[in-house]
Parts: sequence; structure tokens; C-alpha cells
Amino acid sequence: MPTHDMTAARGEPDPAATDECMIDDELISELGADIVTRSADIDPRYFTAYNEAPGPRPRALVRPRSVDDVSRTLALCMRLGQPVVPQGGLTGLARGAFALEGEIVLSMERFTGIESIDVSAGTITVRAGTPLQTVQEAAEAAGFTFGVDLGARGSCQIGGAIATNAGGTRAIRFGMMREQVLGLEAVLADGTVVSSMSRMLKNNTGYDLKQLFIGSEGTLGIITRAVLRLRPKLAAPATAMCRVADYATVVRLWERMRAVPEVVSFEAMWPSFYRYVGSHTPDVLAPFAGEEGFAVLIEYATSAPGCDATETLEACLADSFEAGLIDDAALATSQRQARDMWLLREGLAIDALPNLVNFDVSLPTGELGTFAERCEAALQARWPGIVSLFFGHIGDGNVHIGVSLVELNNTLADELDRTVYAVVQEMGGSISAEHGIGVLKRPYLSCTRSDAEISLMRRLKAALDPKHILNPGKVL
Ligand SMILES: Cc1cc2nc3c(=O)[nH]c(=O)nc-3n(C[C@H](O)[C@H](O)[C@H](O)COP(=O)(O)OP(=O)(O)OC[C@H]3O[C@@H](n4cnc5c(N)ncnc54)[C@H](O)[C@@H]3O)c2cc1C
Repeated sequence: MPTHDMTAARGEPDPAATDECMIDDELISELGADIVTRSADIDPRYFTAYNEAPGPRPRALVRPRSVDDVSRTLALCMRLGQPVVPQGGLTGLARGAFALEGEIVLSMERFTGIESIDVSAGTITVRAGTPLQTVQEAAEAAGFTFGVDLGARGSCQIGGAIATNAGGTRAIRFGMMREQVLGLEAVLADGTVVSSMSRMLKNNTGYDLKQLFIGSEGTLGIITRAVLRLRPKLAAPATAMCRVADYATVVRLWERMRAVPEVVSFEAMWPSFYRYVGSHTPDVLAPFAGEEGFAVLIEYATSAPGCDATETLEACLADSFEAGLIDDAALATSQRQARDMWLLREGLAIDALPNLVNFDVSLPTGELGTFAERCEAALQARWPGIVSLFFGHIGDGNVHIGVSLVELNNTLADELDRTVYAVVQEMGGSISAEHGIGVLKRPYLSCTRSDAEISLMRRLKAALDPKHILNPGKVL
């Protein structure tokens, strides 16, 4: 989905950075012309974010084929004081993977592949540039399921998903990326390769260094390889959409469903979001067209042999109906119907709204109904008639908001951000549930993090990257 670029902020240019020609030449002489592309020859996709105009052209593009290539690139850039932006599949929604003025891009797209699968340990060892979907398919072929799934699975890379600690639609069952990573290899700003490729669930030998890099959005090191947990293979899921009277009842339904360990997804759509996507998603028939109430998508998937997922979900829904939690329910009877339910929930139809700005915030599940009411009221008070649509991974306390303004410029975008984040801050929530901070949310980090927390982050950054060459102007 598009995000806006009205609040971009960056660090000061590094005075030590060398001129453009010299960097091209130095990189080519160190790594060879196969690895390095000169600025003028870089394809625009490496500097154009989704649904946006091209950004600054990078000074050079480096596409390493090995960990040693990454290490030599960073060692050289450290010596020259040259800022570097790590790039994965470019699906991140905080614009953290794009170069600011005078930076080079290091794309991991060539460092791909599954290195090994350990069936008895239930682990997979992968290179950072491998697409998430390739990992999912390799896991399935070996008799397992990989715990993270999200809409960008075909394009996003494992390294990018780890660097943003991606969440997705199965987080209530398996957790976010952080919970999948057992071991990690990363290259520090000075070129040092830190290999912590543990394959054990238990490894209490001092600081858990991999956690430094998970969710750090390329500011502390470049992730090159990872050992990931695999889960017992899930059989085909059963999917249902339910109509629920109000948010308080959505929470009661969640409390009941949470007790069913095989529920993998619990997603909710506020009435106005559901009405919009129901009437604007081509070729999809919404189960409860035009009606009031919340729409809740529930997915159930089990690894228990002989268990019929559809029958079990149907029984859960019947119980909930009896308990007065559900007004109506539609159980998908084909893959096509299940896909349609997910298409509604993914809500790509709202991308067509004018001047759309997306938010991704979190609060405890029970407080999201009040949050949505307060947020909507604050938006309507400032912009009467504004369109704001709420939906998300409610089981994890994560709501996405699509806001469409009649007019948008830098000042209005900043005011819009501050209006939404003020409500998040008052309620003690997070301004970024799963998309990270990148450039877009950098000015608002203090809405969720205290001065002491931000100061500690800065000390860690200074210790690992004293010349600030790794993704400067992002996160901090
Ligand atoms: C349709 C769609 C649906 C999505 N759904 C979800 C969702 O449900 N949940 C969710 O959490 N996200 C979601 N996202 C966001 C996005 O997919 C994730 O953030 C994704 O995992 C980023 O991976 P990437 O490889 O595209 O990273 P990029 O966009 O290329 O980079 C993201 C950040 O990670 C850094 N980075 C990339 N690779 C490395 C590396 N090897 N080492 C160090 N830093 C690196 C970059 O510098 C940047 O800061 C969605 C995006 C789209 C387009």
C-alpha cells in the first residue's frame, strides 16, 4: 500500500564522503564491475518506492554474491565514510530501503538460496536475499510449515523480513519474525562478520546478539544468513467470515477463539472499511454485503492427523453463535471463497482513495475499539467528513488505518500524523506495530519511546557504527 513521503527526514550528509566518481571507481576496483553498477546505469526500480515518484539516484549499486563481498563493501565504505542503504525486496512500508542523497545501495537480491534443512532439529538455514515464499515452499516440501506469512511473500526477502521484524497474518499462532530466528549472521559497519548461526532453541551464552539486528532496519548491520525455526506442517486451513455486532463483542469472540490453539488468524474489519472494500473489490462477493457490524475473518489450521479443519471451525462458530457472539457466519467452501475473504481483508481496494495515508499502530486488543472511536473523533474534529477506515490483525492488537484527505501537502501530512499519534501516545500504544520506523515515522519515535530508550538506541548505534554509514537518517 502507498505511504506518503511528506515527513521525510535525514541525517546530515557525511562530510567525509568522497566524490561520486571516486566511489564508483573504488568499489569497482575492490569488487569488480560484475558486482558494482555505476550511478548512471542503475535501473529506477532501485530508487523508486511503491506508488511514488523516483527518489534520489544512488551513487552506486552493489549486488554482492557472497558474505565476503558484503564485508569488503562495508570495510571500504567505513574507510571512506560512505553511507550505505541495505536493500531487500523493497516491500517495506516505511521507506527504509531507499537511498537518501549521496548514498549507495547494497541489494541482497543475488545472495539467495536455501543452504540446508535439518529435519530432526526442525530448522532451515537460508541466505538473506531468499524470498519469503521460497522459504515457505522449501519448508512445505520438507514436511514443515514456516511460521510467518504476509501479502508480500513473493517479493519480500528473509533478510528484509528479519530487519523489519515482520508480523503478518499468523503472528497470534507463531509470533513475529523474531520468534522464528534461532541464529543469525550479520556484517557490521566496519566489515566484521558476526556469525551467530545457532541451531538450538536453547542457547544462554551471554548477550543474545541476534536480537540487535532483528527489527533494526539495516541501521546496525547487514543480515546475510539466518537459521529459522520450522513448525509442524499445517493441513489445508478452514476460513470463515463472521458478522459481529460491535467491538466489545469482537473482543469476547477473540477471548473464546484464543483458547482454540489451532486458530492461526483473527482479523477484524470495522463497518466502514468492510462496506468500502465490499463494494470496491472487483470480482469478489462480500458475504454480508452492505450490512452493519464488524466483519471478523477467522482461519483455523491444524497439524493434528485426521482432524477435519472445516468441521472443527464450524463447531467453534456454532458455539459462538449459541453464546450470542456472532450474528451471522460464512464458512468458505472452496479455496476461491477463502481467497476472496482474504482479498477483502487485505483491502487493496482502498489504495484507490485520493491522498491515502496509511497507519499501522498497536494497543492491547481490548483497547482498540476505544482507540478507533477517539482517533475517528479527533480526525473528524479537524477535517469534518474525512474518510478513515480501520482494519487489522486484531488478535495481535494491531490495527491499520487508511486515511484519505481531500488535499495533502507536507504541513497537512505532518498534522495528520500528529493527530493520529497523539491518540496512540495518550493511550500508551505503539506508532508502528509491524512496519518499522524507516524515514516516515522517524520524527514521531518519541511518541512511543522514552528519552532514555532513544538515548540507549543512540549509544548502541554509535558503538556499532561510529561513522553512521549504515542507513543513516532511518529510525533514529
Ligand atoms: C502487500 C504488502 C503486504 C504486507 N503485509 C505485511 C504484514 O502483514 N506484516 C508486516 O510486518 N509487513 C507487511 N508488509 C511490509 C513488508 O512486506 C515487510 O516489512 C517486509 O518483510 C520487508 O522485506 P523486504 O525484503 O521487502 O525489505 P525492504 O523493503 O527492502 O527493506 C526494509 C528494511 O529492511 C532493511 N533491510 C532489508 N534487507 C536487509 C538485510 N539483509 N540486512 C539488513 N537490513 C535489511 C532495509 O534497509 C529497510 O530498512 C507488507 C508489504 C506489502 C507490500
